[in-house]
Amino acid sequence: MTKHIFVTGGVVSSLGKGLTSASIGMLLEQRGLRVRMQKLDPYINVDPGTMSPYQHGEVYVLDDGSETDLDLGHYERFTSGQLTRDCNYTTGQIYLSVIEQERKGQFLGKTVQVIPHITNEIKSVIKRMGGDDVDVVITEIGGTVGDIESLPFLEAIRQFSLDVGRDNCLYLHLTLVPYLKAADELKTKPTQHSVGQLREIGIQPDILVCRCEHSISREDREKIALFCNVPTEAVIEEKDKDFSIYEVPLSLVDNKLDELIVQKLGLSNAANELNITPWTDLIHRLRNPRHEISIAVVGKYAEHKDAYKSIYEAIDHAGIHNQAQIRIGRIQSADIEREGAERLLSGYHGILIPGGFGERGIEGKVQAIQFARERGIPFFGICLGMQCAVIEFGRHILGLDGAHSSEFDKDTKHPVICLLDEQENVTQMGGTMRLGSQPATLLPDTHARLAYETESIEERHRHRYEFNNFYREHFEKMGMIFSGTRPDGGLVEIIEVPDHPWFVAVQFHPEFKSKPLQSHPLFAGFVGAALQRHQRRSDSHPDQ
Ligand code: GLN
Repeated sequence: MTKHIFVTGGVVSSLGKGLTSASIGMLLEQRGLRVRMQKLDPYINVDPGTMSPYQHGEVYVLDDGSETDLDLGHYERFTSGQLTRDCNYTTGQIYLSVIEQERKGQFLGKTVQVIPHITNEIKSVIKRMGGDDVDVVITEIGGTVGDIESLPFLEAIRQFSLDVGRDNCLYLHLTLVPYLKAADELKTKPTQHSVGQLREIGIQPDILVCRCEHSISREDREKIALFCNVPTEAVIEEKDKDFSIYEVPLSLVDNKLDELIVQKLGLSNAANELNITPWTDLIHRLRNPRHEISIAVVGKYAEHKDAYKSIYEAIDHAGIHNQAQIRIGRIQSADIEREGAERLLSGYHGILIPGGFGERGIEGKVQAIQFARERGIPFFGICLGMQCAVIEFGRHILGLDGAHSSEFDKDTKHPVICLLDEQENVTQMGGTMRLGSQPATLLPDTHARLAYETESIEERHRHRYEFNNFYREHFEKMGMIFSGTRPDGGLVEIIEVPDHPWFVAVQFHPEFKSKPLQSHPLFAGFVGAALQRHQRRSDSHPDQ
């Protein structure tokens, strides 16, 4: 029988529920259990794909093409379980489904209500995650306990234990234990109140994970335990990690959280001894880098840390792979337009341009690419980054004046990037988004092939526009290498520029498939090339 862990959060938002849930998932997997992860989001939006990266961080894309909350990125980076559309639901999707059933007459004219109709729908999406091949489902409830929006979800998980048995459910509540400087004390009251709110709606948490800046004394843990009605050993400290998020699981192990969960869910027979060595090795590598390099990420949302979450993570993974500490410079592409590429990008060992939508800062990106290409600086273009690289090459090498993407200039004379149905000989797909995992074939003797060490790959997409095949021969004649294409050759997936240390740009999003223990081959290759540039430069200027 599948066991269920429900993760809720209290006191304040942004406590890192996603990271804690993912860490728990990883620890249970490292104990040999089969885990599936799910996030339920209380907002009304039906389609997370249309939400602004400014407000909500990046849109994370799964193999099956679903556009999801960025917490699912943490889940995939920490655990190996396959994530699908079923792993992320919003209030909007739940209501939409119930309303559609009502419209079809499936409730036979009965009054449709939050309880039981909405809560039943929520329970059914949780139940769907279980099965013979899953030992534990971890369901994270977004938002903060006490918000109006989360109530139906909390009510549903309360009912859930009545349906499947209290022994098969575990409620874990993440709270904040703040430090008051003036009093030089940790304060447990917010946690007491937050647990009080949970208990009011009928949920008695089994485990409290307490986020804190300073260690919680035994005395404070006993106090929290007493007031919140849990055993003292179920009050787990999760101290802030200023070094790396990958330390979170290790600190949870130090506090015996994995053992506590295994015992409480009666999984002692099914679970193995914890094998945490790969993670301690990882932290060791992180703490002992052999080199230090800097990479510029040039984007439209550079000031918003979460907008390129997976990109930054993938760069870090490539750093771990290459034993290099990487300083990431977040550069606004619009600033390059004002101040010039030379001024803002000199000194970086590599330049990366991530995906994006909208015209602002496009010319700055094109300038950054020209700078990288002409100066031989390793360059990695992703999605919009590839499209900008094509525009740059078209304008400056092919001499196509005003070459552009028809996304930004409808009337351009040279739409080197355009929608598929704008290309003469292809009519399918129109302006719809190409989403999810799709295959590509790689050309021998290219950077891409060298990095992947295989001919066939599958990568995730999220874009409407494509390289315009009308220009393919011309680009090829002028040196551009189409190192990856759709297996039938019909769409360009990867481009490379020759006579350059490493200039690779891809139409897909490799960042979604990078993991801390398994860097994505292209990110590893890019950072490896940046490292070589650093070493060459230190050789020629030994005092640098
Ligand atoms: N805006 C571009 C397109 O739709 C690129 C999208 C992206 O970078 N994800 O094709």
